[in-house]
Amino acid sequence: MSAPWLDRSAAEIAAGVREGKVTGKAMVEDCFARQHEVRVGADGLNCLLAADRDASLRELERKPVGGKLAGVPVVLKDNIATTVLTTSCGSRILEGYVSPFDATVAVRLRKEGAILVGKANMDEFAMGSSTEHSAFGPCRNPLDPSRVPGGSSGGSAAAVAAGVVPIALGSETGGSVRQPAAFCGIVGVKPTYGRVSRYGLVAFASSLDNVGVFGRTVDDAALALEVVAGDDTAHDATSAPLPAPSLRDGVRDLRGVVIGLPAEYFPPSLPAAIREKCDRAIEALRERGATVRDVALPHTEYAIPAYYIIAPAECASNLARFDGVRYGLRLEGDGLRGMYEATRRGGFGAEVTRRILLGTYVLSAGYYDAYYRKAMQVRALIRQDFDRVWASGVHALFTPTTPTPAFPIGAISDPYEMYLSDVFTVTANLAEVPAMSLPIGRVGGLPVGGQVIAPKFAEPAMFRVAYALEHGLGREALA
Ligand code: GLN
Repeated sequence: MSAPWLDRSAAEIAAGVREGKVTGKAMVEDCFARQHEVRVGADGLNCLLAADRDASLRELERKPVGGKLAGVPVVLKDNIATTVLTTSCGSRILEGYVSPFDATVAVRLRKEGAILVGKANMDEFAMGSSTEHSAFGPCRNPLDPSRVPGGSSGGSAAAVAAGVVPIALGSETGGSVRQPAAFCGIVGVKPTYGRVSRYGLVAFASSLDNVGVFGRTVDDAALALEVVAGDDTAHDATSAPLPAPSLRDGVRDLRGVVIGLPAEYFPPSLPAAIREKCDRAIEALRERGATVRDVALPHTEYAIPAYYIIAPAECASNLARFDGVRYGLRLEGDGLRGMYEATRRGGFGAEVTRRILLGTYVLSAGYYDAYYRKAMQVRALIRQDFDRVWASGVHALFTPTTPTPAFPIGAISDPYEMYLSDVFTVTANLAEVPAMSLPIGRVGGLPVGGQVIAPKFAEPAMFRVAYALEHGLGREALA
């Protein structure tokens, strides 16, 4: 049986719980009933790698129910450390691993009354765009189970889209929240680098990693971000010493707001049907009072090459810690070196191995200058492109989130082709600016996402555009 409360927004559920109209316990029970009904396990969507009803109910007993997310069931991507449930990062090397501490975002969610009901499937160590690179099998898109949900936070997006939870957390290094949000027809936000603490987020590429949020609506995503954002400099040296922004002021019009359309994000190769949905969204922005103008981000074409040098380089360094000594899997071999080799060969999948090899190569003596340093210089140019646009009086950018809707499972076997699905999203990570995806329509029944990008720490402006667009498109966003 469907649980109607579970279909409401996180804000409504929390209000209902605070007012005593529904209990946190009922929410947990309903959530697990829904998990069963939509088959979240390996025989179905495969969106959750761990879930334990009794543990969730016990969590509820340990604290009074109240707060901004009172009784709201949430799912966290499996690279966010929690002391309840495992944190496997979608990898054999961490299979069954239980963290001795909770990530700051998990602590903040719990403090506001949210209840952890599962850890979500993901591409191994967040490397991928389809959640097919999970050691525990691919995740499926709830809107069309023959297709991918996007990645690497595909499990979190699928859980929200399937109605298991109203909000979920994912992580972003190059689009891993926005792209699955687009593929699953929900809202996904990558905040400004430093806006949300990464304490307890297993590192992939440290200069690019962010925790991001998913919601079914812009308002739920705003609520979730308000809860997890804010200063955590005590635990994370890259955390910005700023309070959580206030995002839910309800402004729905865009008078005085200038929105840029970067030409590079609307290439001739963009499918006409996606272009049409974007055009309609742009019209809706104008109808809400925005001034829309064409802008240029000329170094966009170098974003993918730069990203795929920087991200593997940093991943090779970060993943060196998984050596069979300190965490997770250990496979015996000939001596210490043999043990390292056996553990890493047996523990990491093909995509992670490819990136470690690539990253080690670009950082090696003699190649560092030619590749890593060069990529960081290109990154500076990409950042300057954005700075120039903001300096010209533009408050936010609008683009498509992805060049295609969700593709069929198994359709993309060439790694480079897979990397290209991040073409519109990696730039925000390279430039450290906030960006979000929200539904702007459907093509052949599959959701299309529109992306809003804003200057650093301008999440309030970004959300204002997103609220207005969601409101302006109304039911069209689902058609
Ligand atoms: N798809 C990109 C990659 O494979 C981005 C991943 C991410 O954002 N975590 O690296």
